[in-house]
Amino acid sequence: MEPVHIIGAGLAGSEAAWQIARTGVPVVLHEMRPAKGTFAHKTGDCAEMVCSNSFRSDDDVMNAVGQLHWEMRAAEGLIMSMADRHRLPAGGALAVDREAFSAAVTEALQAEPLIQIVPGEITDLPDDGNWIVATGPLTSDALAQAIRAVTGTDALAFFDAIAPIVHADTIDMSVAWEQSRYDKGETEAEQKAYINCPMTHDQYEAFIDALLAAEKTEFHEGETAGYFDGCLPIEVMAERGRETLRHGPMKPVGLTNAHNPTEKPYAVVQLRRDNALGTLYNIVGFQTKMKYGAQTQVFRMIPGLENASFARLGGIHRNSFLNSPTLLDDRMRLRQRPNLRFAGQVTGVEGYVESAAMGLLAGRMAAAQAQGRDLPPPAPTTAMGALVNHITGGAEAKTFQPMNVNFGLFPPLDEMRGGRKGRKDRYPAYTQRAKDDFSAWLAAQ
Ligand SMILES: Cc1cc2nc3c(=O)[nH]c(=O)nc-3n(C[C@H](O)[C@H](O)[C@H](O)COP(=O)(O)OP(=O)(O)OC[C@H]3O[C@@H](n4cnc5c(N)ncnc54)[C@H](O)[C@@H]3O)c2cc1C
Repeated sequence: MEPVHIIGAGLAGSEAAWQIARTGVPVVLHEMRPAKGTFAHKTGDCAEMVCSNSFRSDDDVMNAVGQLHWEMRAAEGLIMSMADRHRLPAGGALAVDREAFSAAVTEALQAEPLIQIVPGEITDLPDDGNWIVATGPLTSDALAQAIRAVTGTDALAFFDAIAPIVHADTIDMSVAWEQSRYDKGETEAEQKAYINCPMTHDQYEAFIDALLAAEKTEFHEGETAGYFDGCLPIEVMAERGRETLRHGPMKPVGLTNAHNPTEKPYAVVQLRRDNALGTLYNIVGFQTKMKYGAQTQVFRMIPGLENASFARLGGIHRNSFLNSPTLLDDRMRLRQRPNLRFAGQVTGVEGYVESAAMGLLAGRMAAAQAQGRDLPPPAPTTAMGALVNHITGGAEAKTFQPMNVNFGLFPPLDEMRGGRKGRKDRYPAYTQRAKDDFSAWLAAQ
C-alpha cells in the first residue's frame, strides 16, 4: 500500500502518524530538526512543546479544551496518552514533564513498524501521493514560499494579529447597539452588522490611561517582528498620541446611539461578527500585546462589555497559517491540490491541543483515503468538529485569525439560557452532547 507522507513531526504530525499506523497504513514522517532548527524548538524530538508545559484545563464537563482532551483520549490519541503518562500536579490543568513527554512520543513513533521517520527539510509541495503538511507556526521559509506559490501570497500569513473575541450573549445590549457605519449595506443584516459600544470623553481618557499603564508581553528572543501598517497593537497606537485611537478604530463617525440618539459619543468601540453562528464577535482593530490579565481588566472598562466573557484574548505572534476558510475543504484538503491535506497550527487553530486534534483528524482522513474510504468530520456539536467546521468554513474568511477551541464555536442549544449566568447549565449540556456525538462518529468508522 502507498504510504501517507507527513511533513513535520510536531504535535500534529506525530499524532497524525500514530493514527494512520493504527489503521494499518504505512507512514513516512519527514522532520527537518535537528539539522535545521527554528527559533523556538530546542531539540530534535518529536512533539516538542516550545513554550509552556500545559495542555490547559482537563475538565471535560465545564471546559471546551477539556472536552477536546476527552475526544482525543476516546480516539486513542498518542499525544493524550503520553501526556497522561507524564502528567505533573497542576490542579485542574493537564501539565506535563515536557522532556519526558516528547521523548516518549518519539520512542513510540520509532517503535511502530509502519512508521518511518526520515530526517530532512521538504522544500517543495509534491504533485501527487497522499500528503499531510503539518509544519506548524514556524514552517520553514522554503516550504512557506512553495505554499504561497500555490495559494497566493495573501493566503499564508507569517504573523497573526489577534483581536479579542467576545461571546455575543455577554454583551450588554441595553448599552450597545447594532449598526454599520453610515448604515452601509443592502440588507438589514448588513446595515446592522456591527455592535457598537459608546464612550464619553471621561470614559475614553480613563481607557487610554489604562491602556498605557497595562503590562505588555515582549516578542520571544529571535522572533523579530516589524509591525505592519493596519495591524499596530492598540497600545502602540495610544502611545503615538492620546487621540490616535479616536481617529482610528474608535472613531465615532457615521454612528447614532440607538439608546440616546441626541448625544454624540466621544468614541465608539465596534465589534464585528466572527462566525456564521453569530455567537462570537471580535473587537475591531484591537490587536494587542497586553498581558491576558490586563486585557480582561482594560476591555471590561468598555461600556457594554463590563460583564463580557472572552472566547479568546488578543495577541501578535510569529505564526504561519493559511486562510483555511477559503483554501481547505471539510476533509482538510487544499482545494487546488487535493493530494495535500493540512493539519495543526498551520490550518489556523491555535495551541498544542488544538493542533494535535487537527493532526488526529487529518491522519484518520488520510488513512481512510489510502484504504479507499471517505471519512467525514465529526459533527460540529463535538469539540473536534466545532473546530474543524470553524476553520474550514464557519469563520469569516476576510478577518480569519487563529482560534482556540471554545464553546462559542458550538451550535447553541435553543432551550438553554444565554449569558455568563447560564453557563452552569449550558456547558455540561454542550459537553454531554459532544460526548454522545463523538462516540457515534467513532463507532461509525
Ligand atoms: C514561540 C512560540 C510559543 C508558543 N507557546 C505555546 C504555548 O505556550 N502553548 C500552546 O498551546 N501553544 C504554543 N505555541 C503554539 C505551538 O507552537 C503550537 O500550538 C504547536 O506546537 C503546533 O503544533 P504543530 O504540530 O502544528 O507545529 P509544531 O509543533 O511546530 O511542529 C511542526 C514541525 O514541522 C517541522 N517543519 C517545519 N517546516 C518543515 C519542513 N519544510 N520540512 C520538514 N519539517 C518541517 C518543525 O521542525 C516542527 O517539528 C507557541 C508557538 C510559538 C512559535
